[in-house]
Amino acid sequence: MQTYTHVTIGAVIGKVLFPDSIEIQIAIVIGTIIPDLPLIVMFFIDKYLNKLPLENQSKLFIEINNAFHSYFCWITSLFCIPLLIGIYSHLLLDHVSHSKEEYKESDPGMLWPLRYKLRGAFDYRGGHGKIFDRINVVT
Ligand SMILES: [Zn+2]
Repeated sequence: MQTYTHVTIGAVIGKVLFPDSIEIQIAIVIGTIIPDLPLIVMFFIDKYLNKLPLENQSKLFIEINNAFHSYFCWITSLFCIPLLIGIYSHLLLDHVSHSKEEYKESDPGMLWPLRYKLRGAFDYRGGHGKIFDRINVVT
């Protein structure tokens, strides 16, 4: 999913689960952003270098992105439950929404450092410039 989608869902989760604590709601939203930090940084680097953002990703970048999207790596967030809720809501949404084989190479490896890549139930990406592909949601 897009980062802003994760943020929106994190805000809803925070508001529903912890309606009386804006601090916990903010922590959940921050947690939803953390797995995409490498993508956000690389997006702005590519823009700065006048390259098509995130089009050609290096193997090092893919490894870093895999680590940031790994179910195993974020077990460390158990020390802060709101962050854990935000991070794992992000990981679960990315997991179920990445199914197209054409993106498999650059999709995050949710089981990193294992090489096996889990595939999702649908895909929201309809190609470059398209944010959402309805056909893939219903199939
Ligand atoms: Zn992500």
